[in-house]
Amino acid sequence: MSVRKPPLNKANLMLQQEAIDAVRGQTLAPRGHFIDGRSIASDSGDVLDIISPIDGAILTSVAAGSKADMDRAITSARAAFEDGLWSKMAPAQRKKILIKLAELIERDALELAVLGVRDNGTEINMAYKAESLSAAGTFRYYGEAIDKIYGQIAPTANSVLGLIHHAPVGVVGAIVPWNFPLMIGSWKIAPALAAGNSIVLKPAESASLSLLHLAKLASEAGVPDGVFNVVTGKGSVVGEAMGLSMDVDVLVFTGSGATGRRLLEYSARSNLKRCYLELGGKSPNIIFNDAPDLAQAAKVSAAGIFRNSGQVCVAGSRLLVQEDIHDDFVAEMSRHAKDFKVGNPLDLSSQIGAVHSLSELEANLQFVQTAQEEGAQCVAGGKRILSETGGYYMAPTVMSGVKVEDNLHQNEVFGPVLAVTPFKDEADAIRIANSTVYGLSAGVWTSNLSRAHRMIEEIKSGVIHVNTYGGSDLTVPLGGVKQSGNGHDKSLHAMDKYFDLKSAWIQL
Ligand code: NAD
Repeated sequence: MSVRKPPLNKANLMLQQEAIDAVRGQTLAPRGHFIDGRSIASDSGDVLDIISPIDGAILTSVAAGSKADMDRAITSARAAFEDGLWSKMAPAQRKKILIKLAELIERDALELAVLGVRDNGTEINMAYKAESLSAAGTFRYYGEAIDKIYGQIAPTANSVLGLIHHAPVGVVGAIVPWNFPLMIGSWKIAPALAAGNSIVLKPAESASLSLLHLAKLASEAGVPDGVFNVVTGKGSVVGEAMGLSMDVDVLVFTGSGATGRRLLEYSARSNLKRCYLELGGKSPNIIFNDAPDLAQAAKVSAAGIFRNSGQVCVAGSRLLVQEDIHDDFVAEMSRHAKDFKVGNPLDLSSQIGAVHSLSELEANLQFVQTAQEEGAQCVAGGKRILSETGGYYMAPTVMSGVKVEDNLHQNEVFGPVLAVTPFKDEADAIRIANSTVYGLSAGVWTSNLSRAHRMIEEIKSGVIHVNTYGGSDLTVPLGGVKQSGNGHDKSLHAMDKYFDLKSAWIQL
C-alpha cells in the first residue's frame, strides 16, 4: 500500500535561504510618510531611528511625524473621499484594483517579509506566510467580496419604499502594533478600502517599513492619490492627533488596553468617532486528563505560546493543567521549550526569532523575576540569550506554580513566558480561566464532546480552540470580549465597521 504524502507547501518551497540572503543585508534609505500618493519628509524634518532587534543596530530611520503631518494626511484623505474617484467607483472596478494589489504583494512577498523581520524580529518562516502571503489573501478576499454585498428593501407598508444602503463612512484612521504589522494592517486597510473609504494608517513607530512599502504598492495597483496614506511617528504625537481629529470618522485599533482607553478619551473629547478596539489577552489553554493525545497537546501548546517569541495577541500564555497529569505535562512542555532553536530570524533554521525591543526584553525578564518573588518556579528559560549578537533574544520560559492572584497570571507579558497553574476539575478550570480581565482566546483539550461544548459556552473569550491551539482563517472573525476589545477583524463581519447604514424613506 502506498503512503499518501502530505501536499507540498508552496510557500515553503518558494522561500529559499539564498533568496533571503540576497536581500537581508540591503541598505535601507530613510523613509518618509506616504501622503497623497508620494513619499514626504516630516514637516519638522525630524526622524526616528529604527533599531533592528536582530543585532541591536540602527537599520534606517522613518519620519518622526508631527500633528501637522497627521492633519495633512487627514485633509488629503478627506479630499480624496469627497472627489468620489474611489468612494463612488463601481465596486467591480475597486475589486480589480484590490486584486491587482494582492498580486503586487505576492510579487514583493519576500522583500516585504524581510523588511518586516528586520524591524520587528519575527522568524522569517512565519513572517512570510503570516505577513506577506496573508496580506495578499486579505486584499483578494475583500476585493472579491465587495461586488457581492447588496442593500435591502425594508418590509414597510406598500405606500412606502424603505431602502437600506451601505454607505462608506468617509475617513478611517487605523493604528496598528508592531507584532504583525502587515497582517493586522491589511485586516483593516483591505475592508476599509473595499467599502470605498479613504484611510490614514499609523503604524507602530518601530515597525513601519513593510506598511510604507504596501502603500506604494497600492498606488502602483491604481488606488488613487490620497485614498491610502501612512503617517509614521510616535503614538503620543501622531496617534493622539489622529484620535483627536474632528475629521476622522472611524478609528480602528489593535494594541494595548492602555492605548485603547486613550483612544476612547480622544473620541469623547473630539467628534465622538466610533472606535473599534482589538486589545491584549491572557489566554487560558486548558489540558484535561482525558485529552486525546497529550504528547500532541504539549507540542501544539508550546508552539501556541512560544512562536514569534510569544508576541502574539492570542498566545496561550496561561497553561491550566489537571492535577493528576500536571507534573508529566509540565515536564513535556519544558522539554519543548528547551528544544526550540532561537536565533537570527532571517535564518530559515531558526524556529523562534527576536524579542521586538530591548525594553520589551527587559519587561519580560521583570515578569519572570516578579513571578519568582511571588513563589513560582522557573522550569525552563527565564533568561536573555545570544546577547553576543547585540540582538534581543529570550529563551522560551515556563513558570510553574503560578497562582490566580499572581502578577504573571493576571497581566499580559507579550513575550515568551508561560504561566502554569494546576486545576482540580471542570468547574475549577472554568473559574481559573475566567479569572482575568481579558477574553481574547482560549484552548481546551478533552475527548469528552459534552465537556468541550460546556467549555465553549462557559469560557468568556472571543475564540476557543478545541484539541488544537491557534488555528485561524480569514473567514473566521477575530475579536475579544471583556477588556480584550470590542471589534472584529477578518471575515465579512469586519465590513460592518467600514459602512454606515443609510436608509431612504420614499413615499410612493
Ligand atoms: P501599543 O498600544 O503600545 O501600541 C499600538 C499602537 O498604538 C502603536 O502604533 C502606537 O504607536 C500607538 N499608540 C501608542 N500610544 C498612543 C496614543 N497615546 N495615541 C494613539 N496611538 C498610540 O501596543 P503594542 O505594544 O504596539 O502592541 C502590543 C499589544 O497589542 C498587546 O497588548 C497585544 O495583545 C495587542 N494586540 C492585540 C491583537 C488583537 O487582535 N486583539 C493583535 C495584536 C496585538
